[in-house]
Amino acid sequence: MRVAVISDIHANLHALTAVLEEVDQEQPDAVWCLGDLVGYGPRPNDCCRTVRERADLSLVGNHDLVVLGVVDVAEFNPEAGIAAEWTRHALSDESREYLGSLQPSATVSNVELYHGSPRDAVWDYVLDGEAVQAAFELTQAPWVLIGHSHIPIAAHRDDDRIDAAHAPDGTEERLNGGRLLLNPGSVGQPRDGDHRAAWLLLDLGAGRAFFRRVEYPIERTQKEMLDAGLPEALAERIAHGL
Ligand code: ZN
Repeated sequence: MRVAVISDIHANLHALTAVLEEVDQEQPDAVWCLGDLVGYGPRPNDCCRTVRERADLSLVGNHDLVVLGVVDVAEFNPEAGIAAEWTRHALSDESREYLGSLQPSATVSNVELYHGSPRDAVWDYVLDGEAVQAAFELTQAPWVLIGHSHIPIAAHRDDDRIDAAHAPDGTEERLNGGRLLLNPGSVGQPRDGDHRAAWLLLDLGAGRAFFRRVEYPIERTQKEMLDAGLPEALAERIAHGL
């Protein structure tokens, strides 16, 4: 089974469209989304509709839950809070219903999926060795998928040895009897210094994973953000992948 994994779209429709065009060329058996469909970006309803139509499985993320009013906006920095308020008003009943139907974690055959981490599927970031180790200890599946940090990473666990690293465009990983923890990076707001939209192609049968990046018309998303009255700093950062 081959699966396209996307995460942290953040209402950036142009990035999502570019990723799905590449996904279509690969003709995977399924598309999975690890959450944060909305927040920060200007096209929340289009992104919810697209994910609902295209994804066989989607998680819900912390931004989605803040917009739904399920968790408190006080957890956010001011700009994220402004964007969450804007999104709350912009969200259609249809989008609200869809996001409200999703969970922050899931298990599909031999893959465990979390928006944040196995410790806290909504808020916890897996960004250091301690968090990677905890994520392996709290899971059993050979494949563990996480989102939330917007930084693509690949971590191997073979016996007691753990290796974790940033996974830039073109990184290929193999599951050689051990276990793999993978973050595809972010479709709509990458934060690893590469502005291109990120996604991950898994070949579960062959035990292989491929990290991919794709260009998209950033200036179109930036213009939509400014036209919508979203904070300028949020529009600026997507050009830098930060
Ligand atoms: Zn996110």
